[in-house]
Formats: sequence, C-alpha cells, structure tokens
Amino acid sequence: MDVLTENHRLLDFSESENQKMIAQMARDFGQREIVPHIMTWDESQEFPIDVFRKMGALGLMGVLVPEEYGGAGLTYTEYITAIIEIARIDGSIGLSLAAHNSLCTNHILQFGTEEQKRKYLPRLASGEWIGAWGLTEPNTGSDAGNMRTTAVRDGDYFILNGAKNFITHGRSGNVAVVIVRTGSVGDAHGMSAFVIEKGTPGFTSGKKENKLGMRASETAELIFTDCRVHKSQMLGQEGDGFVQSLKILDGGRISIAALGVGIATGAFHAALKYSQERKQFDQPIANFQGISFKLADMATKVEAARLLTFRAGDLKNNGKPVTKESAMAKLYSSEIAVEVANDAVQIFGGYGYTKDFPVEKFYRDAKLCTIGEGTSEIQKLVISRALLK
Ligand SMILES: Cc1cc2nc3c(=O)[nH]c(=O)nc-3n(C[C@H](O)[C@H](O)[C@H](O)COP(=O)(O)OP(=O)(O)OC[C@H]3O[C@@H](n4cnc5c(N)ncnc54)[C@H](O)[C@@H]3O)c2cc1C
Repeated sequence: MDVLTENHRLLDFSESENQKMIAQMARDFGQREIVPHIMTWDESQEFPIDVFRKMGALGLMGVLVPEEYGGAGLTYTEYITAIIEIARIDGSIGLSLAAHNSLCTNHILQFGTEEQKRKYLPRLASGEWIGAWGLTEPNTGSDAGNMRTTAVRDGDYFILNGAKNFITHGRSGNVAVVIVRTGSVGDAHGMSAFVIEKGTPGFTSGKKENKLGMRASETAELIFTDCRVHKSQMLGQEGDGFVQSLKILDGGRISIAALGVGIATGAFHAALKYSQERKQFDQPIANFQGISFKLADMATKVEAARLLTFRAGDLKNNGKPVTKESAMAKLYSSEIAVEVANDAVQIFGGYGYTKDFPVEKFYRDAKLCTIGEGTSEIQKLVISRALLK
C-alpha cells in the first residue's frame, strides 16, 4: 500500500528552522497572552478578539497566505506546528485560529479572483478582519450537499435566503464565505460560494451556542433574509461551491488533526508532571504501573497522531492528493485527543474533575475534534470510499 511505498519518501522527521521559530513564537505568545485568561474566557464564553489581532501581527492569521497578499507565506508544516502549540495551551484559541486560516482565508486564497484576493487577504492575514465559513445548516450537517439556503439570480445580483448554523465567528466575523444553493437539490454542482461582508443588508447573525467546550471560540448562526449580493462576490464559477468546499475541508481537516494533537499534548504533559508530584501510599503515583502504562499509551498515541498529521501536511505541501490522508489524520488525532484527555483526568483523580487544574478543560475541548469539519463517522466514510474505489 502507498503508506509503505510511494509516500514514505516524503517523510522527513527533522524540524526545520522555520518550524522551530514558529513553535517558540507561538509558545511564548501563548504563555504571555493566553495562559493568564484561559479560565475567564472559558467561564464567560468570551471570544477574545484582541488576541487574534495580536496573532495577526505575528503572522499567525495568514500562515499559508503568500507574502504578496500580506501573509507569512509558510507551509502546512509550520501551520500545523503553530496550531499544535496554541492548542496545547487553549483548544478554543486553536480552533478559531484553524477556522480563520483554513476555511475562510484559504477559500478566498484558493478560489478567489486576483481582485478578491487583493481586497480580502491582507485584512484577514493581518488579523484586522476575522473570517467565518458557512457550510452547515440546521438540517444538513454531515449531509451538507443537501443544503437549503438559496441564492436566486436577479440580474447582476443574487438574492440569498436561509440560515447557516454552528458557524465559527458567526457574530464577530467581518467577512464570511458561504456555500449556498444556486441549482437544484441533489445536484452536486447546484451550489456556489460567495464572500459576503458584515453589514451587507439582509445578512445578520443569530443564536450564539452555549457549548460544552471550546467556549472561547465563538459559534453562531448566520441568517440571510433577501440578502442582495453582487455576482462579483461569487468565488470561482457558479456551481463549483460544493466541490470547492470539499477541497477546502481536505486542508481544514489537517488543522483539526493538529488541534487534536495539541490538546492531547497539553493533557499528556499535565498528567506526566502531576503523576510525579502526587503521592499516594508514600510514593509518586507514577510508580504504579497502572499509571505509568497509561502514560506510555498516551505518549505513543500522541506521537502516532503527530506523524499522521505532519504526513498529511507534507503531502499537501508537495501538491499530492490528500483526501484520505487528511481524513485519517483527523480521525485518529481527534479520537486519541478524547482518549488522552480522559486518561489525564483519571490520573489527576478528583482534582482532575475540578476547574483548579487544566485537564477537565482539555477533556471538554477535545470532544469537538471528533465532530467539527466532519464527524469521525464521516472521516471513516471518506477513508473507506478512497480504499474501495
Ligand atoms: C464548535 C463548532 C464549530 C463549528 N464550526 C463550523 C464552521 O465554522 N462552519 C461550518 O460550516 N460548520 C461548523 N460546524 C458544524 C460541524 O461541521 C457539524 O456539526 C458537523 O459536520 C456534524 O453535523 P451535525 O452537527 O449536523 O450532525 P449530523 O450530521 O446530524 O450527525 C449526527 C450523527 O449522525 C452521524 N452520521 C451522519 N451521517 C452519517 C453517515 N452517513 N454514516 C454514519 N454516521 C452518520 C454523525 O457522525 C453524528 O454522529 C461547527 C460545529 C461545532 C460544534
């Protein structure tokens, strides 16, 4: 199989200078700007917009955007590294960073005209603007191709009606890329993507979700009521929206895989430290094989998830097909993030169940990874389709 032949030539286990630099920068930034506020933001569900502006100044809001459009012009390798470092501190900030970079910004970068790219990318890459991306609807999540929000042609305009839900930055986003129906239901080429600015008449935000985890990452509804959008706001060709969104999700899933790796890494290191400090029966609990074997399993899972994630990124960097590999990375990293966070809570015992220690938050945040940008079941669908085609 290709896992052992063709693709393994692309693997390089050494860290590049860029990777080391971005990891250190993200770590320092996280310690300074995120760590002191983690639980305040979590409790209040505040989306800390200033933090994203500051990350923009560091290049983290446009990691993949070429320098000519104001971005950092780096590769998936550095992008994954940045998400891991931020998510090991706070999953919420990692999720918002991933959605901004991989979904909204990347959709414009991949499918926008030169004019659209020049207009939107510098603002998004600098963090001046926050981006949202709307595919999901209340009645069509996994089955997104069955969406019902419509865009009906009216001369040089399209009139949008409907709603998108669970949208990251649904309220705070300055601009949204939305995929809506321009053709008939059941036609994979009956959907188109538009870039729409906040303030466009008929475009409003609805309910903000009250969530289990990822509480500092804003999740809200987008509502379209007779919203007139000029045809120049379409991304790519009419009818290409759904196919575009599948391509965007191929890259997006790598960032959710990185999010899972980051959360699992944070939970693992907290548990590793605690297990050597906490004493029961006159010795550190790490002396008990029941605990040390758990740590061994956790570390092995984190490492395997890292490899799958960087491999998917490497394929993307080299312009190779990545649909199956990004789904594998996303599936595995998400599932082990939940398992590792669960084990971390167990190692902390009763203290792990309190908000005085970080592991309960890792546990809550990790669960999103198995749901967002395609559930684990949908990843298995994507992987098995690729295997059986
Ligand atoms: C915090 C958060 C942020 C999000 N951000 C965004 C965003 O920015 N933009 C956006 O567009 N969306 C976003 N989403 C939406 C997310 O992508 C969807 O929630 C996800 O795709 C699942 O859709 P659903 O919730 O409607 O679940 P459903 O599709 O209703 O699934 C319910 C269950 O059925 C299973 N299922 C469905 N179909 C199948 C099948 N064929 N085979 C086996 N099992 C199946 C699912 O795996 C799941 O277990 C976000 C969601 C959350 C929670």
